[in-house]
Amino acid sequence: MNTGLVHAVVRAGVVLCVAFGATRLDPAHAETAPATEPSLPAALIARASAVVDADTPRLVEMFKDLHEHPEIGFTEVRTAGIVARELRAAGFTVTEGIGRTGVVGVLANGPGPTVWFRADMDSNSVAETTGLPWGAPKRQRLADGREIDVMHACGHDAHVTWLLGFAKAIAALKSEWSGTLVLYGQPAEEPGTGAQAMVDDGLWTRGLPKPDVAFGLHTAPGPVGYVSSSPGVRMAGTDQLDVTFFGVGGHGSTPQTTVDPVVMAAQAVIAYQTVVSRSIDPQAAAVVTVGAIEAGRDNNVIPDRATLKLNLRWFSPAVRAQMLDRIDSINRGIAIAAGAPADRPPVRTMKGRADPLVNDAALVARLNPTFEALLGRGKVVSDFPAVMGSEDFQEAFVPLKTPYVFLLVGVAPPAMFAKAVAAGQPAPYANHNPDFFVDLDAIPIGAKVHTLAALKLLAKAR
Ligand SMILES: [Zn+2]
Ligand SMILES: [Zn+2]
Repeated sequence: MNTGLVHAVVRAGVVLCVAFGATRLDPAHAETAPATEPSLPAALIARASAVVDADTPRLVEMFKDLHEHPEIGFTEVRTAGIVARELRAAGFTVTEGIGRTGVVGVLANGPGPTVWFRADMDSNSVAETTGLPWGAPKRQRLADGREIDVMHACGHDAHVTWLLGFAKAIAALKSEWSGTLVLYGQPAEEPGTGAQAMVDDGLWTRGLPKPDVAFGLHTAPGPVGYVSSSPGVRMAGTDQLDVTFFGVGGHGSTPQTTVDPVVMAAQAVIAYQTVVSRSIDPQAAAVVTVGAIEAGRDNNVIPDRATLKLNLRWFSPAVRAQMLDRIDSINRGIAIAAGAPADRPPVRTMKGRADPLVNDAALVARLNPTFEALLGRGKVVSDFPAVMGSEDFQEAFVPLKTPYVFLLVGVAPPAMFAKAVAAGQPAPYANHNPDFFVDLDAIPIGAKVHTLAALKLLAKAR
């Protein structure tokens, strides 16, 4: 993630979502999964497509409006209100305020499985530079009085639009499916705490229908018209944690009377670089990043504490445990070597976390022929490499062991993408950057992908 361009509020949070450093969503990667199950009938795909196309002018206006009103995690009051209103208009029974701003809509339509579809609703703290008519830079005042830049720089405005376009389309196609649909808006994906907040607020104990399957989409700066629907491990697990070193403060002119926590923090940053390089099996991917250091204020005062803000990425719980163990050992060793007060050892505080995102292979194989029938041959990428980026979508479903699929949807203009690739760049722009934008041609595509996934997963016996 391009943290240099992201406001400190987001930098201090989990930097989530899709990292495209080494991979890209493009035709070179396109290969369709073996068709283990036939596509939906062409006539039904055409009908569903036409329903979404007819609604697209409204959806484009909805998207622009959402983009013009970004809201940082857990403040998505306006966005959640729109989700609730639109779900109710489509006939869903709606519950609001789950996990502060989460919204859940249920549409029961006869016997069959229950499928949950998610859109995350929060924005980033980024100063927008797209120059688009709906892309003026915006500021948001927080409850504590601070004012921050805000921008939908991760495409969650598109996710909400896709979900609401899908809600209307699938309600119009009620005769074509049987089962229960649950569409929900999730708060605060960016700090990695929104899904857990909904679970903690009784998502699974409120009597809502339990999922048999779950489905999610995310924007990616690949060409419009392509999706990645790939099986297996997709995204890394993540933790964010703070480490605080305690020393003895004093005058900057007399360091011999102090124990300097700034020096301990600096040593820790360097020592952490050996956690992955010297302790973890080189064939097991992992990341330790120190995203922020907070210590002191004045040039001539040695403070009494220093806090490091760390982010971990991993695919195996054993690797995660090994990283935490090494970090603890390093912290202890540095404190002892520095002569830090024995009664104030370094403290490690765990904050947001997410498990790795692992797509159910059977579901991918079941859905991809239908997506390919919609988008065209070769436009469903089924071998997109796993990335070190992370998501919290799956955190709602891990406790229930619900199988799920999480897709990436291309949102970059194809000509712009081709030009970037020709110039040796993986993509023309990246999520979280101030120039990130969603091409309006991508607006109907996510709604169609959702709609066809629902029609396939809740197909009537034919
Ligand atoms: Zn993001
Ligand atoms: Zn995102």
